[in-house]
Amino acid sequence: MIVAIDGPAGAGKSTVAKALAQRLGFTYINTGAMYRAIGWKVLQQNIALEDTEKISKIANDSLIELVGDTVLMNGEEITTQLRTAEISSAASVVSAIPAVRRALVAHQQRLGRATNVVMEGRDIGTKVFPDAEVKIYLDASPETRAGRRHREEIEKGVEASYHKILAEIIERDTRDTNREDSPLTQAAGSIYFDSSTFTPHEIIEQLTNFVTSKQ
Ligand code: C5P
Repeated sequence: MIVAIDGPAGAGKSTVAKALAQRLGFTYINTGAMYRAIGWKVLQQNIALEDTEKISKIANDSLIELVGDTVLMNGEEITTQLRTAEISSAASVVSAIPAVRRALVAHQQRLGRATNVVMEGRDIGTKVFPDAEVKIYLDASPETRAGRRHREEIEKGVEASYHKILAEIIERDTRDTNREDSPLTQAAGSIYFDSSTFTPHEIIEQLTNFVTSKQ
């Protein structure tokens, strides 16, 4: 069974997807982490973000493994290095390259065929698994999402500017929704949730019941 969760950055997809996977005993797959891993490698090798040929080669030649929250790139653990604003932005740029998407989507489809999954991303219900049994679109306004990210940073003790985070979120949304290949959009047949109206707990509760009723 495939549970597809799509939506923009900061809508709460990871919190919901992880808890739901745990409740259902499904494998949790964060596809954003795969695009981040490619972005990380590109920056690490000082490859220009315009060099689509080299970036496509990296996507085709790399082995990305996800074990829960842990991300391995060709065997090297890079989990904590993927959460910076620089990597968010690089991931968004490399994810617009069709050859990168082809390589990662094929990998995601293999993982989803092997076992029951809760898979989160931007194109899971539209492109990776358009026939997923359950599709969810999790949304919230850019201001709400930026406010959440800002609070998270402050709680971690990191100095952060709300306005800078809001500008980055809007820039990433714009790129993700306007790219030609697999733009972020609500999939046909998906259930829409605004995460500013419901708490994560309420959403997880409703979705657990919904998925269980479909099994
Ligand atoms: O989900 P996360 O914010 O970690 O994803 C990082 C970036 O990867 C997104 O801004 C988006 O550009 C890209 N992405 C994508 N398709 C996915 C998952 C992520 O294009 N399925």
